[in-house]
Amino acid sequence: MDSCIFCKIAKGEIPADKVYEDDTVFAFLDIHPRAPGHTMVIPKTHAETFSDLPTGEVGPFFESTQKIVGMIKRALKPDAFTLGMNHGRVSGQEVDHMHFHIMPRWAGDGGHSVQSVVANTPTEDIKTIAEKIRSAA
Ligand code: AMP
Ligand code: ZN
Repeated sequence: MDSCIFCKIAKGEIPADKVYEDDTVFAFLDIHPRAPGHTMVIPKTHAETFSDLPTGEVGPFFESTQKIVGMIKRALKPDAFTLGMNHGRVSGQEVDHMHFHIMPRWAGDGGHSVQSVVANTPTEDIKTIAEKIRSAA
């Protein structure tokens, strides 16, 4: 995708603080880090969201991501990590090329758990919701 900023970063057309690259992924530090070592992993293939990533690329993407988590663990020795993606505009996705955030965590860093990003407790019975999801397989 010619106009995509993250495609340009993956191709080296826009500078970034690269931490890792292989055949399928490119990883670089977030320009507005929420923690030391806040890293973003992107597939080299342009995919707007995780749902758009070709199925065959999902495994390699997460294998590389696990490797990068290990690198950050050895390099910065955080106490923990928060890992995740904003998937779609309403969730906070600002760049339309999927990116996986790796945020190293330290005790007392002022952060919260990943569940704390939403507070929309369902009114519908959870068994009904589970059945709806199962029936969409
Ligand atoms: P999201 O809200 O999940 O779409 O996150 C997009 C992230 O990309 C933000 O945390 C930005 O700080 C980061 N970002 C945007 N442009 C750049 C860039 N050129 N280099 C590094 N990080 C960037
Ligand atoms: Zn792209």
